[in-house]
Amino acid sequence: MYGRAVVALAAACFVGYCVLPDLMERRSPSSLRRAPAPTNGIALTFDDGPNEEITPRILDALHAVGGHATFFLVGQNVRRYPHLVRRMVREGHAIGVHTETHPHAWLCVPSRLRREIAMSFTAIIEASGGKRPLWFRPPYGAFNAVTTATAHRLGLRIALWSCDAGDWLPGASQQGIAARIRHGIQPGAVIDLHDGGRTPTGCRRMADLLPGILDEIVHAGLQPVQLGELVGLPPYAEAYAPS
Ligand SMILES: [Zn+2]
Repeated sequence: MYGRAVVALAAACFVGYCVLPDLMERRSPSSLRRAPAPTNGIALTFDDGPNEEITPRILDALHAVGGHATFFLVGQNVRRYPHLVRRMVREGHAIGVHTETHPHAWLCVPSRLRREIAMSFTAIIEASGGKRPLWFRPPYGAFNAVTTATAHRLGLRIALWSCDAGDWLPGASQQGIAARIRHGIQPGAVIDLHDGGRTPTGCRRMADLLPGILDEIVHAGLQPVQLGELVGLPPYAEAYAPS
């Protein structure tokens, strides 16, 4: 009897802390998934970097078409490659927070999640020379009961996506990645791509495709923009600091 009560309590805690907040926040209108108004902008977003090999290729491809993007960085990679963070800033891209070590929110007690977000937030500000990020994307798009409040406390807005390129999938083929991206190329779309993480093969295939994809985007009359442009915001919060 006692054992059953413990199991029921644990299940209730799991549902209340993980499942319900996740279901609600993934659908919340306050999370950005696409532009809320007509635009010719399209937001390419790159998660899990910076990566020494792949990120420079992404930046080169964006530079070639005069496009901008948003990079959701993992804090421990920021500390490893601060010169790539500075290059992102120099070339007009936005930088968002993607936690310090990329844990799934369901496996984080509140104190760990707060630490994960705060550490990566600070790492970005230090590496970028004082740029204060505006966006947070939870790893795996997963939420727990404290995710949104923790992000908001640091002035971060939640960014999800309208198209998942699937370049993070083990064994993702180049054709599969290309088909998913092409399906997602629409005015106001937010495309989720990866320039780091545990599946470098998929990232390399995406990086191989990117110059051609960017050409297609531009020829379709769309402009690759940093995420904030979809909602009329600058790349960083500092633009709102009182003078
Ligand atoms: Zn990620």
